[in-house]
Amino acid sequence: MKKIISIIILVITFISFGILNVKALDYNNQIKFNYRYSREINNSCYWISSSASGFTNSINNAAYDWAHWSNPLVLTPVSSSYATHMDFYGKPSSYWYPYNGVLGETTHYTSSGSYIYPDNGNWFYADIYLNNDSVYNYQGTAAHEMGHALGLAHWNSNPYSIMAQSSTRIVQVVQSIDNQHLNEKY
Ligand SMILES: [Zn+2]
Repeated sequence: MKKIISIIILVITFISFGILNVKALDYNNQIKFNYRYSREINNSCYWISSSASGFTNSINNAAYDWAHWSNPLVLTPVSSSYATHMDFYGKPSSYWYPYNGVLGETTHYTSSGSYIYPDNGNWFYADIYLNNDSVYNYQGTAAHEMGHALGLAHWNSNPYSIMAQSSTRIVQVVQSIDNQHLNEKY
């Protein structure tokens, strides 16, 4: 009698929701993060590093784009990063290696400077990195990253939201529904 031994190879695919995906800006399609700024946003400010100076107009326009809606947000540019809500930095494409095509990245921090995932707790400030090597629409990208800083996640099923990722988004300015989500948080 011949015995046939079958060898079953299990291929287990690990799906990570950890740091790597945050790095790749692959936030879950959850529309809003679970948490928000630990302080109010009615007197908030942002600082632009010299590395991101080329984005100054786009960032200023994006800040106005968010703040001109009916909401509590007051967002003022300042010349020092001290106690700011958002700090902008420019990075080369190589910063995101091996990921290609990253336009921007937002990272949230507590008041002590510790990284905090925005579904795990409130944050005190956010750093926003913009890709210096991209020629994509940067007002739209800046507004999208500001949305992350303010507590909005991705909403790829709605291409008319500024929080849809660039591959699916067909608008470059904040929409009424985005402002509604901001108002639901603050
Ligand atoms: Zn994003």
